[in-house]
Amino acid sequence: MTEPIQPARVRVAPSPTGHMHLGTARTALYDYLLARKTGGKFILRVEDTDIKRTVPGSEQEIMNGLHWLGLDYDEGPDVGGDFGPYRQTERREIYSQHARMLVDGGHAYPCFCTSERLEKVRQEQQKRKENPRYDGTCRVLAPDEAARRIANGEKYVIRFKMPHEGSTTAHDLLRGEIVTDNSSLDDSVLLKSDGLPTYHLAAMVDDHLMQITHVLRGSEWLGTFPLHVNVVRAFGWEEPIWVHLSVFLKPSGKGKLSKRDAEHAMKDGYSVFVKDMEDLGFTPEGVLNWMALMGWGVPEDDVMTLAEMVERFNIDNLTPSPAAINFAKLDHFNGTHIRLLADGDLAARIKPFFIKAGFAVNDDLLLKIVPLIRERLVTLDDCIAFAGFFFKDVVEPIPEELIAKDLDAKQCAQIGRKAYEILSALPDLNHSTAEPPMRAYVEESGLSANQVFGILRVAMTGQKVSPPLFESIAIIGKEKSLSRLLRAIDILERM
Ligand code: GLU
Repeated sequence: MTEPIQPARVRVAPSPTGHMHLGTARTALYDYLLARKTGGKFILRVEDTDIKRTVPGSEQEIMNGLHWLGLDYDEGPDVGGDFGPYRQTERREIYSQHARMLVDGGHAYPCFCTSERLEKVRQEQQKRKENPRYDGTCRVLAPDEAARRIANGEKYVIRFKMPHEGSTTAHDLLRGEIVTDNSSLDDSVLLKSDGLPTYHLAAMVDDHLMQITHVLRGSEWLGTFPLHVNVVRAFGWEEPIWVHLSVFLKPSGKGKLSKRDAEHAMKDGYSVFVKDMEDLGFTPEGVLNWMALMGWGVPEDDVMTLAEMVERFNIDNLTPSPAAINFAKLDHFNGTHIRLLADGDLAARIKPFFIKAGFAVNDDLLLKIVPLIRERLVTLDDCIAFAGFFFKDVVEPIPEELIAKDLDAKQCAQIGRKAYEILSALPDLNHSTAEPPMRAYVEESGLSANQVFGILRVAMTGQKVSPPLFESIAIIGKEKSLSRLLRAIDILERM
């Protein structure tokens, strides 16, 4: 018997400390899929307690990125919800109350050690080749002594009193049981001297109060995972299901993705930041599909829309093994999803690229072009290279490109004139009227189709690679086509 599905409450909890990374977007995607699959809720919580690292505009960028991807959240700073506020700096009081609860319960203690002292301790430990950790000086302070020092206005932090004996067993959905010797664990800071919490307190408190059922997060948190389960247990709370996702590796597969890799990606027209994806011509569908499969084992037919992903999602199929970033796959998924778009949709998506490139876009014309270029687009901005000539008044062929293989300029000019004669005689210039007489000419002239159509193509489009020639000529229109052809003939005659 299968168990009834419990609606999941899941959150993505980015810190607004810079550009939104693919890793955050992928976590959000899996959260979204789990929430939608189970009829639960997907929540955005902004973890902004590390004020020194907060970057203005970063929170907005996260929201924009999620909206662009179509990962709409049910609760969050801008949409509200029953468990708010959803910005951690607006929840200070909640964290200090909870820190106090832990102190009162004997699970945490105030620590008055100065950073100078801590630094000295660290250096000595390093000399002795020990792991750097808090040496426990304030752990053993009598509570009334600590209270006196607080009353005296001494600065302090709250540290977690990590059990020294035994071991901690934490359970990760993808990785199974992780057992850690408690003697290796540190008394981490939960509340800083400015009264703001660290992640270790804030996230645990919020996940509990927001009734989060599954914590999906990056595997960089595995190191402090034992601390987190101990904090949750010290409060006496039920633990969420913990899911530490796979890390991203460099494209080479050797080592974790670094800042340098991000710069390199940009040079090649890719990015690891969501905000760049749109400008680079990627579609949300392509990015989602690509990200989804870096950490989710889908057996076959891996092209999926978001709705299809919801349909097929099963959290048990997420994989813990690291995933090498593969931008060629991004291209593949992007091109594939472009081909799945309806004409009007694709037209609307490429329009901004034409406008940005300075073309005056005509919507009717755009709709006619879409079917001709759809198959060739890998990214949306490819439309400029393939179809910019449709919107130009004149094209500027490179003279040498007008010369077909094994022919000279004079011969090519003559072919141009013959083509002009044929095309100008047609009362109506379109694909079905233009191609047969042009093919007949190729036959009788003994030239190859490549030679004749190559000259025509460069004359009409200004480029050697273009959408299908006669369909393109039909869209360019008789008048413009003929004048482009005359201009090409002229160029050839002057060579
Ligand atoms: N603020 C944390 C981060 O950005 C969130 C980790 C989590 O999802 O718990 O890494």
